[in-house]
Parts: sequence; C-alpha cells; structure tokens
Amino acid sequence: MSSIAERLQGVRATLPKGITLVAVSKYHSEEEIGEAYAAGQRDFGENHAQELARKAQTLPNDIRWHFIGHLQTNKVKLIMPYVSLIHAVDSWHLLSEINKQALRLERNVDVLLQLHVAEEETKFGLTPDEYDELLSQQPWRELSAVRIRGVMAMATHTDDEAQIAEEFEKVDTIFKQSKANHFADMPHFDLRSYGMSDDYPIALRHGSNIVRIGTAIFGPRQYQKTSE
Ligand SMILES: *Cc1c(COP(=O)(O)O)cnc(C)c1O
Repeated sequence: MSSIAERLQGVRATLPKGITLVAVSKYHSEEEIGEAYAAGQRDFGENHAQELARKAQTLPNDIRWHFIGHLQTNKVKLIMPYVSLIHAVDSWHLLSEINKQALRLERNVDVLLQLHVAEEETKFGLTPDEYDELLSQQPWRELSAVRIRGVMAMATHTDDEAQIAEEFEKVDTIFKQSKANHFADMPHFDLRSYGMSDDYPIALRHGSNIVRIGTAIFGPRQYQKTSE
C-alpha cells in the first residue's frame, strides 16, 4: 500500500503549475495530516467547524485552513481565528456574519461564493439567479473585512463525464460574466474552486484553479472516527 506522502506526490504530479491543491483532511487524524505536512503540503480543507478549530490548535501555525463545507452562521465565530479561505458562502446573511466576526478579531478574510449547478437537490449553493441577485442587490462592497475572491462548486456525483464537464463549464462562464460585471476593478477576484478526487481532471480543463482532494491523498474516510 502506498503512503500518504506517495499519494500526495502522485496527485501533485498531475497538476499544472499555478493550481492550488487543498488536501481535504476531514475525518482524518492530526497524525495523517502531519504526514502530508511533512511532505510539504500546507493547504488543508475541513468541513466541520469544531474539527477545524481542534486541528488548527494542535497543528503547525503555517497551515492554511480552508473551510469547504456548509457553514452555519453560529459556527463562524469558531473558525474565524484559524480560517484562511471560506469556500462555500451561499447567502447574504452568512456573508454579513463572516464580516462581523472578522471585524471583531480585527482581521480580514477571503471567501468564495458557492454556486449550485449540480442536479442533486441536496447540494447547497446559490442558483445562478440568486448569485446574480446577491451581487447586484446586496451592499457587499461595504463589508470592509471580507474579500470575495471567486466561486466554488460541486458537480453532480455521476459517471457521466459530459454532464460533469457541462456543469463545470457553466461555473466557469458564470465566473467570467460576474468578473466583468461586478469585479472589473478587483483583480483579486480570481479563484475557482471545483474538482475533487473523482472529477478534478475534468475541472482543470474547465477553468478550475483550486482543487479539493481528499480520498486520493488520505484514502477512504472513516466516519465513525469523530462524534461530529
Ligand atoms: C469531502 C469533500 C471534498 C473531497 O472529496 P474527495 O472525493 O474525498 O476528494 C471536496 N469538496 C468538498 C466540499 C467536500 O466536502
């Protein structure tokens, strides 16, 4: 069996220059994260607030923690001291709360808006219309501690590669349109987070520059490991 360091190397070898690899470490132990860290990995992704806070307190300070899951407003406070990029913001309410908690800690925070393009009903995220509405109708420019850096999305879980490609292409198009319409004066609006273990090669062909990869690096997750 290959080690975490070997699998990490294997994934890295498939990524073009300029692509950020977020190693998704949810449900994996501090020890496993330590192995990836020792192999040079610094960006890690978590989707539970308590788990991120716990790991951030024990692991090295130069790790960049990505919150990639659905974030409840009452959990923003918990991750704010540690988080580097919040990927899945999908409401004005959440965006305002993130700004409020960042101001409280006198820090700035980067976020992505999550787009819902998959077929599944259960996936979170803004529909393209809701996304447009948020950007054209809400006073997000007044949130002084928050920078909207780009978009995040998940494709439908399917073997149909054409469908996945179509969904990622849609995200790419929406990203470019909104960049022209709302962020023309903001070069920092430059991040596209899509692609996971099974579909990241397709995501990279459709404009992604951040991939979030768990299983291909850490192996299968053991959900019973944590009580969250
Ligand atoms: C778990 C998770 C991933 C990683 O999934 P893998 O299939 O293990 O690579 C990526 N993005 C999000 C939002 C996740 O929750």
